[in-house]
Parts: sequence; structure tokens; C-alpha cells
Amino acid sequence: MIALSLAEIAEIVGGQPHDIPDQAARVTGPVVIDSREVKPGSLFAAFAGERVDGHDYAERAVQAGAVAVLAARPVGVPALVVEDVQAALGALARFVVGRLGTDVVALTGSAGKTSTKDLIAQVLQKHAPTVWTPGSLNNEIGLPLTALTATAETRHLVLEMGARGIGHIRYLTGLTPPRIGLVLNVGSAHIGEFGGREQIAQAKGELVEVLPAAEDGGVAILNADDPLVRAMASRTRAKVVLFGEADEAAVRAENVRLTATGQPAFRLHTPTGCSDVTLRLYGEHHVSNALAAAAVAHELGMPVAEIATALSEAGTLSRWRMEVTERPDGVTIVNDAYNANPESMRAALRALAAMGRSGQAEGSRTWAVLGPMAELGDEALAEHDAVGRLAVRLNVSKLVAVGGREASWLQLGAYNEGSWGEESVHVSDAQAAIDLLRSELRPGDIVLVKASRSVGLERVALALLENT
Ligand code: ATP
Ligand code: MG
Repeated sequence: MIALSLAEIAEIVGGQPHDIPDQAARVTGPVVIDSREVKPGSLFAAFAGERVDGHDYAERAVQAGAVAVLAARPVGVPALVVEDVQAALGALARFVVGRLGTDVVALTGSAGKTSTKDLIAQVLQKHAPTVWTPGSLNNEIGLPLTALTATAETRHLVLEMGARGIGHIRYLTGLTPPRIGLVLNVGSAHIGEFGGREQIAQAKGELVEVLPAAEDGGVAILNADDPLVRAMASRTRAKVVLFGEADEAAVRAENVRLTATGQPAFRLHTPTGCSDVTLRLYGEHHVSNALAAAAVAHELGMPVAEIATALSEAGTLSRWRMEVTERPDGVTIVNDAYNANPESMRAALRALAAMGRSGQAEGSRTWAVLGPMAELGDEALAEHDAVGRLAVRLNVSKLVAVGGREASWLQLGAYNEGSWGEESVHVSDAQAAIDLLRSELRPGDIVLVKASRSVGLERVALALLENT
């Protein structure tokens, strides 16, 4: 971040200095909320969480080198006391990004934000110094913390924005006003909380409403293949750039196929030329993510050949997303346990099926170890049923449905689609799945592990990778 004195920060956030011997002392960053991450020059923002209260760690933070604490009350060490620490953090981020004049790329969508953000980051980095959201820190705290890591060298700031309701994206864009806004898709993630797809579209579309007008450089990058996203074109003053497989898309994939190793390949078309891309990532859904990343990079002036090369070299930066590991005994584990929703379940199952088809040893099998998809509201039964059926239609060898009621719907879906008992089983918990797989797996088998975040199914993938 740029160096700021405590006096300057006090003014920016409207904070009351307490126990500060020298208001000219400068914060050079990083700004952190975990006292263990404090470095000399840090500002420690104290948040009161459900289990721990950051204010209890103020002294420790200052001992570790924090110049001061941003706090809701005096803490006995140098502090700027504010009414609302979150609002203060946001105000600081807004100030810093404004002062730096960093070009902000913001992206949202129901599925694939982190994957796409990681792709964009890896492509843009080849072009100019880029700062991006680490992992999935896409909320009202993670976003300003990320923005505050930008420096005078930073040319591109790539920010993932999450929304769990109306007004959330608007709030985030208020902190770091984007020039380029990308909307990936409108799926069913958090549909229970939102109340329906239209509401999700309403919330995600806030991103394009706040963009500058086309003549001021605003660009809305929209998924041509998703009708609800495409319709957002009417909600923006920015220039609209469509990406996808649709003919009208300016940034388009043609001849999409899976290579013999199961990775997607395609010809990338842009308004300034074409180039071939072979992804290192698994799952066809990454074609859409890669096109979105290409559209961003193209808009920022990168030549298409460079974009294609960077995309072809890009790996996963965030863990537990289609993380493919082959054990010494020849069993392959695909850990996609970071999260799940109906769209990503289908994409992951298709990737598993493709990997199974692509020349594995004779007699090897594909296993889908799937757990519940959370927050689907009234659609939960139908969606689990559909995923179970898809596993059978894709000819996945074995379905292991893990967990409670939703898992039984997965298994029933498979059963009703024509699986007979042994091909689809329902086990009560992760340990039962681990036990079953440990005794059944044989060389050449490929195991996909996937469920919603709250299920923590990575336990199964990690256990299967231990001691092998
Ligand atoms: P979160 O809301 O948890 O931050 P996210 O939008 O950042 O999620 P990712 O973490 O990139 O999404 O991916 C979540 C899941 O969605 C993964 O299982 C991934 O395989 C799948 N996925 C990624 N891209 C897409 C896509 N374009 N369409 C459908 N599913 C996708
Ligand atoms: Mg994410």
C-alpha cells in the first residue's frame, strides 16, 4: 500500500486517535485483521467475530510491529477509534485505490469467480504488474484488504466480488469502483437465500450498473451463453463485450474439444485475431472462464497470441478446485471439494467422464464421491436427483453419495435412472466413504470428490492421498 501517516488515516476514516505518541508515524502496510499476519509497518484492524474479538489481540499486534490498531474502542495501545471498523476499512481502501488511480477489474457470478479471477491474474501478470484477490476473499472485508495491497507499481487490480443479497455488489463497487466489470453466470448458488434466479440476476447485475459510460472507458463483459447475464446489457452505460460460444460473442471459442488427457482445447477468436488454446485445467466449464479472462485481457490491450499462450500455461492458484493428483499406485484423485452447486456438479461429472474415457488402463473405473449441495431451497430435491441421474447417463462407474437426506436423493436419482444397487451407494459420512474407497480402489481408478463447502468433503480426498 502507499505509506500514510496516522494523522492522514485518522482523517480518511474519521477516527479518534487514542494512546498515539506520534501521529506522524507512518503505516506502510500490510493492513491485516489477523494479529499473526502483522508485519512491521502494519495497521491492524480489530474485528469482533463470533468466537474471537480482534480487540483482545491489539497488544500482541502492536508488539509484532503494527503501527496502530483500527478499533471500535480504546485498547490501551496506539489506536484510531471508529464507530464501524468495517466502514473505516472500506473508506481506507477507497482512498488508496483512488489515490493510486489503479485500473480495477471486478468480476462476479454464481460459479467460477475464483477460477476465472486466477486465470485473469495469470494472463494479465504477463502484461503488467497485477494484484488480485487471494483465494476467495470476496466480501466486504476481504475485498478492501486485497485492494490495500496495491502499490504505485500496480497496473491492474483484479477483484472477485461475492453477493449473498441485493445491494452487496453495489457496496463492494463503492469501495473499489471498477472500470471493467465481468459477469460470468447466474446459477443457483445461494438460491435459497436470494429467493430465485431473477433476484440473483438483479444482485449480480449491480456490477454493470455502476460502470462508467463507454466514452469514459467503462466495459461490461458479459456471458453471451447465459440469457440472464446477456440481458444485463440493458442495465449498463458501459461498452458491452460478449464472450461465449454463441456466434454473436466478440470473444468466442470454436472447435471446443477435450484432449486425450481430458483437458479442454479450443480456437480463441477475438476481434483482433485468433489463436489456439489448450488449457491445463480440467472441466469444460473452464472454457467459459478462459473466454472471460481472454475478453478482459483483450480489452486491456493484450495481443491475442500472448493471451492464448498465457491461458495455455495457467494452472490453478486456489486449492481444492479440480486438483488432480495421481498416487504412486496409479489411482487418480480429483479434489473438487472446495464447493458445489448444480452447474459445477455437472461440469465436474463431465470432466470425470472425459478423464475416464481418455485412455486409462483397462478395467479402471471412474468414481463420483458426491455430497450435498447446500442452499438450494425448494429446488434441492430435484437438483440432487438430476445430478444422480447425470452420473449414470455419463456412464460414471460408481457413485458414492455421502451424507444425509440430500445424499439419498443423489443416490435415488442414479437408481431411478437405471443404476442397480452396486453402482450407486449411499454412505452416512466422510469416514464411511474413506473406508469404502480404501478397500475398493485399484490402479487406474479416477475418483472425483465434490460437495458444498459446508460439507468439508476434502477430508475424503486428503485421506485418500495420505500414506500412498
Ligand atoms: P465461491 O462463491 O465459493 O467464491 P466461485 O464463484 O469463486 O465460488 P470457484 O471457486 O471458481 O467459484 O468454483 C466453484 C466450483 O464451481 C468449482 O467446483 C468449479 O469446478 C466450478 N466452476 C468453475 N467455473 C464454473 C463455470 N463457469 N460454470 C459452472 N461451474 C464452474
Ligand atoms: Mg470464490
